[in-house]
Amino acid sequence: MITRLKQRMIEQSGLKNIHEKLENGARLAEQDALRLYEVRDLNVLGLLANIIRERKNGSRAFYILNRHINYSNICILSCQFCSFAKKRRDAGAYEFTIEEMAGKTSQALQLGITEIHMVGGLHPSWKFEHYEEMMRAIKSIDPKLHLKAFTAIEILHLAWIGKLKIQEVLERLRTAGLDSLPGGGAEIFSQRVRDQICRGKESAEEWLDVHRTWHRMGGRSTCTMLYGHVETIEERVDHLRKLRVLQDETGGFTAFIPLPFHSENNRLSHVPEPTGFENLRNLAIARLYLDNFDHIKCYWISHGLKLAQVSLSYGVDDIDGTVLEEKIYHMAGATTPQEQTAAELVKAIRETGRIPVQRDSLYREIPVPPISIPCNDRRYNGEKYWCGSGSKR
Ligand code: SF4
Repeated sequence: MITRLKQRMIEQSGLKNIHEKLENGARLAEQDALRLYEVRDLNVLGLLANIIRERKNGSRAFYILNRHINYSNICILSCQFCSFAKKRRDAGAYEFTIEEMAGKTSQALQLGITEIHMVGGLHPSWKFEHYEEMMRAIKSIDPKLHLKAFTAIEILHLAWIGKLKIQEVLERLRTAGLDSLPGGGAEIFSQRVRDQICRGKESAEEWLDVHRTWHRMGGRSTCTMLYGHVETIEERVDHLRKLRVLQDETGGFTAFIPLPFHSENNRLSHVPEPTGFENLRNLAIARLYLDNFDHIKCYWISHGLKLAQVSLSYGVDDIDGTVLEEKIYHMAGATTPQEQTAAELVKAIRETGRIPVQRDSLYREIPVPPISIPCNDRRYNGEKYWCGSGSKR
């Protein structure tokens, strides 16, 4: 039930029909999504998105203890929006050895992480077996650690270098330790846009086919949309529609993660970045349109932790994790920190009135032991803040 005041806000915004659809559990059409993108009253969008957010997840807000490993930025492609990729002889090109990756994993395990999130460039000379070895080396440190690795674009690259079918690549990687796929590389599905921002990259159909194959094998994955550059609103809605169709078919996506374009150090630096208003509007519309997705994530690295907090009232139920080291957005000018402690994530969530829930990679709640990770955060005036439980002791 919503109050009369909220009812009036909805009517004044001309969204009564859409509100009725939502109340009746009816699916929004593409025209409805386009209509929502015309709305200037962000609070009304938040109000509507919050109805669905709370219907699906109550007041819970998820976070995860994870570590990112961007194994190399050396890449055979030169996507126009990308600030991360380098050619082998460029200043700033790097590649981690397997020993280095194992060392980063071991260190992070001491902080209680449950997931390694690993993506990188399309390396020109690494063999397929090298990627299997990476997986095995990390998995052998802790077999319970969840390995989320390789975007669909990397999987297609591995199929090419290994002369393998997509399913064979996924099966071999799974045997080596792969647990789930991250959702990067989707960008915007429109070929018109791909020709402008990532010429030479695989098509939407190829990206979707990797996830379809993985889902049919019983695997789970996330999905993304890189927005706020040269795409039209219609192309954004078309992107969401294609994701919703695949989700209807397989049910394999755990979450949708919209990624705002960052403009520093790339060939689209003349394109203005999306604003905070645009980011919140986009998150809210995703929550309303993607009725078959359980979770909408606001990745704090890309949006900032402050906006991620606000987004918890605009359809979002997950702000991602501790991360520890991030290169892709930071090379594009992100001014967010490289990491958050669990305590900071818990505090950020609690401030908004939501209930912090530590999750695993598949959104299962992790019961937090009474004593978890002590964090000596100065903002707590020297008091110890026990991250997992979210309570001071
Ligand atoms: S976005 Fe990915 S594929 Fe494109 S240049 Fe950057 S690292 Fe390479």
